[in-house]
Amino acid sequence: MIIIKSLAQHFHHFFLAPARCELCDQYVKIIPSFCSDCQAQVKMLSQSHCQICAMPFESLEASPHTCSVCIQKAPAFSKVYAAFEWCDMIAKSIHKVKFGAQISLLEVLACHGHKDFLASLAEFRPDKIVPVPLHWRRSFKRGYNQASLLAEKLRQFSNLDIPIVESLSRDYQKAQAQKNREERLRDLRGVFKIEKPELFLNQRVLIVDDIMTTGATAHSLASEILSVGAKEVRVFVLARVGLKK
Ligand SMILES: [Zn+2]
Ligand SMILES: [Zn+2]
Repeated sequence: MIIIKSLAQHFHHFFLAPARCELCDQYVKIIPSFCSDCQAQVKMLSQSHCQICAMPFESLEASPHTCSVCIQKAPAFSKVYAAFEWCDMIAKSIHKVKFGAQISLLEVLACHGHKDFLASLAEFRPDKIVPVPLHWRRSFKRGYNQASLLAEKLRQFSNLDIPIVESLSRDYQKAQAQKNREERLRDLRGVFKIEKPELFLNQRVLIVDDIMTTGATAHSLASEILSVGAKEVRVFVLARVGLKK
């Protein structure tokens, strides 16, 4: 009797369990997906942002220009493409991907952001895609590197066979969240190591990551890739965090 009950529960779980929103548990028709309430909160990046680093401007009517941070010192990457603006819903989603092992959520986010990714491919025509590497200890603990999974999911939307290069490593660093841009830039100097530099000679390289906050990580990685002979480096992120805080 117990066996039958347990089998019935398994059957129910695998075949009849109602589909639920990846974020709030409301019922949905297909999985993985967001319910309409959560979907309504996804904010695509507005057109009013820095032409280089995609930092959102406060005024929505601002004409296209470069932000003061990029004017003072141009970053190593020449352009950032971002799909979403930073908001609670995106923050919650990315936290669940990184620390809650909710990888299916990454698929939903990639699905929502893939048009911007395809636009970045069409404009930049990269030869290589580089997901931002995690230190091996972090990816071992987490079981995956979310930037690599994201790059793979996004590439699936493209029908293009652009190679994803993962032969890069990263030194261990303490958590970066509390640090400002200058501190991050200092800490990140020489942190990335390229194992096969010949792969990047004269190449256009698109770095892929889940979010960009200060841009220091992408700058440091881009500098390293350019130092081994890449022609140009641009960046695609799901979400761009503003510096208003
Ligand atoms: Zn929901
Ligand atoms: Zn900028």
